[in-house]
Amino acid sequence: MQYRHNLRTGDRISVIGGGTAYLYQAGQKEGVRALRTALEGGINYYDLATSDARTFPIFREAFSGKREQVMYQVHFGADYTHGSYGWSLDANTVRRSIELQLKELGTDYIDYGFIHCQDEHSDWATYKKHGILELLEQMRQKGIVRHIGLSSHTPEVINAILDEVEIDMLMFSVNAGYDLSYGEYANGSREERDALYTRCASSGIGISVMKPFSGGQLLDARLSPFGFALSPYQCIRDCLDRPGILTVLPGMRNTQDVELLLGYDRATDAQTDYARIAEVTDGANGGRCVYCGHCSPCPAGLDIALINKYYDLAKLGDQLACDHYASLEKNAKDCIHCGHCGHCDRRCPFGVSQSAHMDEIAAWFAL
Ligand code: SF4
Ligand code: SF4
Repeated sequence: MQYRHNLRTGDRISVIGGGTAYLYQAGQKEGVRALRTALEGGINYYDLATSDARTFPIFREAFSGKREQVMYQVHFGADYTHGSYGWSLDANTVRRSIELQLKELGTDYIDYGFIHCQDEHSDWATYKKHGILELLEQMRQKGIVRHIGLSSHTPEVINAILDEVEIDMLMFSVNAGYDLSYGEYANGSREERDALYTRCASSGIGISVMKPFSGGQLLDARLSPFGFALSPYQCIRDCLDRPGILTVLPGMRNTQDVELLLGYDRATDAQTDYARIAEVTDGANGGRCVYCGHCSPCPAGLDIALINKYYDLAKLGDQLACDHYASLEKNAKDCIHCGHCGHCDRRCPFGVSQSAHMDEIAAWFAL
């Protein structure tokens, strides 16, 4: 399993995490088996915005004695007081739901307490007015909540909340469909969504991904807006290549799902390569590198995708990205020695003139 660090909290988080919306359908015994298989495979991060409260005792049993090995996202605004999921902006209901979840999970702390599902500015105003943000802050001060998260599908609302509150983790709906304006939660333009990823990356806010398969649409050629199916591994890598993404949270319904997800670690480059998405954009991507790595290997040994990612972040003032760029064994200035072989230009399905772009990057960092 690969891990990434949340720069704000220091947490080491598995790149595959667990979405648990339908885990309860497996029943207690199979659910426990699935979660134990997940942890044995290295998955240490779980979202608990589930569809049904029967999920929580599955976690309690599966991770009994192992609580410190796993991290939970728990949502302030998800109501389980009636068993199945409900959305609430009532502080008393939220308090009771959190108490119930802690008891049913068999834990006395929450790793990431989330401001839950804020898609409208009016929701956020109500959330504050009704004292739910205050409740979350109080629980953090008591040490029950360790870090603050935010879940939303809407970049505009997310940006407004990030301007107001120190957020350590953002849960956002990310996939190739949404970024190209296809799908139920394709909120915000491509530019707004890209700007959000880079904002999070440059301010150290980790992103956990919900809906990486667009609710399964991208995996089914009949439903996919692209007219062809992507594999789960292509969708996962596409998410992980974006700036700021720490972990992808596909739904885990049973052990079979978990085993499929754990296979991501063993997948070949060919199995995860999502360059086919370029067919949808006619190869045009505004000259922008999406860090897909399809142009590798570079004969001069450059990690083209990483160099581009660091450059884009550095231009936004991210000093860490500058440091990472400087510490690369080879960086854009080494491209000069290759005589601009053009291999990357020929390979790039997104129409990026990368050999020329390398000159721009080398010049920018030389300043
Ligand atoms: S043009 Fe430069 S960056 Fe591109 S493949 Fe050749 S050496 Fe690598
Ligand atoms: S230059 Fe093209 S192929 Fe290479 S990483 Fe960027 S988008 Fe992918």
